[in-house]
Amino acid sequence: MTPIHDVVIVGAGPAGSSLAHFLARQGRDVLLIDKSPFPRDKTCGDGLTPRALAVLRTLGLLDRVAAAGCRINGIHLFTPDGLPVSAPIPSRGDLPRFIVVLPRYQLDDLLRRQALAAGAAYRDRVEALDVLRDGDRIVGVQARSAAGPLELRARHTVLATGASVALQERAKLLAGPPLFGRAARAYYEGLGQVSDYIEFHLESVPLPGYGWVFPISARAANVGAGYFVSRGQPPLRNSPRQVLDTFLANPLMARRVARATMNGPVKGYPLRFDFPTARLAFPGLLLVGEAAGLVNPLTGEGIDYALESAEVAAEALDEALQRGAAPEAVAARFTAAMRARFQRAFLTICRVRDFYFRPWLLNRAGRAARRHADFRTTLVNVCLGNIDPGQGISPKMLLRIAVG
Ligand SMILES: Cc1cc2nc3c(=O)[nH]c(=O)nc-3n(C[C@H](O)[C@H](O)[C@H](O)COP(=O)(O)OP(=O)(O)OC[C@H]3O[C@@H](n4cnc5c(N)ncnc54)[C@H](O)[C@@H]3O)c2cc1C
Repeated sequence: MTPIHDVVIVGAGPAGSSLAHFLARQGRDVLLIDKSPFPRDKTCGDGLTPRALAVLRTLGLLDRVAAAGCRINGIHLFTPDGLPVSAPIPSRGDLPRFIVVLPRYQLDDLLRRQALAAGAAYRDRVEALDVLRDGDRIVGVQARSAAGPLELRARHTVLATGASVALQERAKLLAGPPLFGRAARAYYEGLGQVSDYIEFHLESVPLPGYGWVFPISARAANVGAGYFVSRGQPPLRNSPRQVLDTFLANPLMARRVARATMNGPVKGYPLRFDFPTARLAFPGLLLVGEAAGLVNPLTGEGIDYALESAEVAAEALDEALQRGAAPEAVAARFTAAMRARFQRAFLTICRVRDFYFRPWLLNRAGRAARRHADFRTTLVNVCLGNIDPGQGISPKMLLRIAVG
């Protein structure tokens, strides 16, 4: 007879693997599946914010991640007219006071192994094709593996499938057309001027968007560019590859990449950031990480949200399994907890992005930030997703921007 797991999790990225770890650690019977063989690459900037590092600490992985990756102590932000604004990573509560850049090929495998070490069962090369339903309830997934079709049954099913929406489309789980940004990146060895600061570049890129240089060692970096489109705006004609090429052709970047070697191909991938309007749960099924549209619509960071949403889901599922709660009630409670945690910040970030991302305004803000340390710290906290920009940007700061 087909076993009924406590939880089946589809997708072994940061959201799925960390959730599998949290639940297995509580003694739950968890099956984690992924369509790709691991270790696998995931197109990303590879930057782990202090918030992401805080959850990795809870998972018992902070020291290993910090040892394997490149430790970053500050941020250089370049305004649209090329002026640098630099600041160290500010202290904020008990968040680590640094960033780590670690290629996803390594990070995701560390997370997956940590889930296995906690007792989660795992199968790769298994692709979920649709959900299994019993009336209004979702009771597992239909999948395929090399050995043939499979039915995986569970009390609770979780989709942690990232920006790929094929399964959600097939299973009719989308509330509306999802909203995507686009980005591309490449690894460069021998890049000039790599330091222990990451770089965000607002010059030579379409706005809202940015180019980045995220060091992975003293000589190598993940270099990329990405852009977002607001709902209702026409999509950009340029491909992510063209946007990256334009960014790399600006005089500052062209000098730096001239003598560098590219390691591997340029890769592009979408970023889904429609969390405020996305459906987050159905009776028997929860969505976490980027599958719930959880990517910062200003910075493109999604690993921190993936890990944090796994914490929210772990709490909801553990409580549900303990009390044998009805799937309808679990879906409602999880949705409420996710909205309470992320909704307001997302809506403000979208408003700030749509209002402030104009070259002249960003240039003025950059000049003001170079003169005022508290404003610099606010900008860095916004870049890191540490603060809700609506709360962080005070009327005094707006006056300073106006003065330029
Ligand atoms: C170019 C680029 C740069 C980025 N830079 C950063 C950055 O520097 N920092 C940051 O925090 N975020 C960054 N992001 C965002 C970040 O990569 C994602 O938000 C993050 O990976 C989301 O994690 P996740 O676990 O939700 O999904 P993913 O990491 O995408 O994992 C989803 C997993 O699900 C599996 N899967 C999908 N469908 C199925 C299926 N039907 N059956 C079985 N398995 C399935 C996939 O194989 C995959 O392993 C970037 C994104 C892009 C595109």
